[in-house]
Amino acid sequence: MSKFKCTHCGDCCTLAPFEEVEKDRVLRFYNIEFVRSATPGGHIFYLLKAAVETSRCPFFVKNENGWGKCEIYDIRPKICRGFGKGPKDMSCPHIKRSNKRNFQK
Ligand code: SF4
Ligand code: SF4
Repeated sequence: MSKFKCTHCGDCCTLAPFEEVEKDRVLRFYNIEFVRSATPGGHIFYLLKAAVETSRCPFFVKNENGWGKCEIYDIRPKICRGFGKGPKDMSCPHIKRSNKRNFQK
């Protein structure tokens, strides 16, 4: 079976939640606005305001060839680091379920 290859389209980079420490780490390098939110169970987390407004993470940037990457890759939140390794709603929206085991990013 052929392995799925990420095209770096950025369609999975939408509304990533940041823990407080992750938000503070980003704010050391970027002047960007976060909004505070909470799960129904009361766990506090933060969302990028621009991502809330557009449903696209502002840190996903594309070059002139349409090849995209995470601008904060080294300090991206844990949820982004675990992408593709967790439950099926946390994996590429472009792969067929049968191919999800062969995911490569
Ligand atoms: S994992 Fe999928 S949605 Fe995300 S950048 Fe790669 S191809 Fe696009
Ligand atoms: S922080 Fe990086 S990996 Fe996470 S959603 Fe934004 S661009 Fe994608």
